Amino acid sequence: RAKSEGPGRSTIFDTSMHTQVRERIELEVALRQALEKDQLYVAYQPIVRLETGIPVGAEALVRWDHPDRGAIPPMTFIPIAEDAGLITVIGAWVRKEALRQLGVWRSEGTVGDDFYLSINVSPRQLNDPELPLIVSGEMVRYGVPAHCVALEMTESVMVDGSSVTARVLFELRELGVKLLVDDFGTGFSALGYLRRFPVTGVKIDRSFVTGLGVNLEDDEIVRAVVAMSHALGLSVIAEGVETALQREALHAVGVINGQGWLWGAAVFAPEFSERWREMIRRAPAPAAVELRRD
Ligand code: C2E
Ligand code: MG
Ligand code: MG
Ligand code: MG
Repeated sequence: RAKSEGPGRSTIFDTSMHTQVRERIELEVALRQALEKDQLYVAYQPIVRLETGIPVGAEALVRWDHPDRGAIPPMTFIPIAEDAGLITVIGAWVRKEALRQLGVWRSEGTVGDDFYLSINVSPRQLNDPELPLIVSGEMVRYGVPAHCVALEMTESVMVDGSSVTARVLFELRELGVKLLVDDFGTGFSALGYLRRFPVTGVKIDRSFVTGLGVNLEDDEIVRAVVAMSHALGLSVIAEGVETALQREALHAVGVINGQGWLWGAAVFAPEFSERWREMIRRAPAPAAVELRRD
């Protein structure tokens, strides 16, 4: 068989496999040093009320500035960090840095007591029975109340999670932090999981938001997700909102909060605080707007 495909075929395949493996190992080695070499940063993306543009919070997203290769996206290095067991160290650093920054913004008055910061956590982090204690210690240390903190996890955490993970989630929720299911709709999306775990909200994955207003199926899926989530008392945030058309469609099916390039991409802390002040200035006074649930 290999012969009929011509000479060299399998060699080319092996070579490209080899390159991929080597690339991965190189990235892993570099990633191990990234923290101590100060190459990791946290960027912040605003979360807003769709209807009014009033900002309500932000998501913290890790960034890696590689000395030779420039910015390496999280989609590339987070899976490597997870496989290599580095995610616990990186995740802990991101969380601490984000909470520290939130403490600074609060004490400066950049953000108010109604601002919340959403932080991504990996399954492995949630499998650590010490996590709730560590998080509560960090909140005290940085002067951040629990209602100003959200943790984002993927559906897989609830599906594959151990009994330790389940306990950790309940203890975190007891502290008062919000628990959001990230990329909702891409995994199992089973109603049972949402009921069995103390989640407070879902983030509708960008892949469903993209087709809104164009692909009727997506409108129907999102409509169903919103109805179900609200019936369960969960908040809904739409991810990856890029166009006014998507915003209108989301508003039409009852989504209250959104996040996406329509309002701004994730930026580093100094730029974020400037943008935040600008968004607050431009948005209508909260008193003038009927405050709704979520
Ligand atoms: P995510 O948590 O679902 O984050 C949303 C992603 O969508 C971010 O990509 C964000 O920059 C991007 N995004 C936001 N608005 C738009 C938009 O309007 N259009 C498009 N096309 N994209 C938009 P990012 O920052 O590259 O992160 C990718 C993923 O990496 C995240 O997806 C999350 O799963 C993971 N990640 C990022 N930071 C962390 C972290 O600190 N810890 C862990 N465990 N995972 C992280
Ligand atoms: Mg997220
Ligand atoms: Mg997400
Ligand atoms: Mg997503």
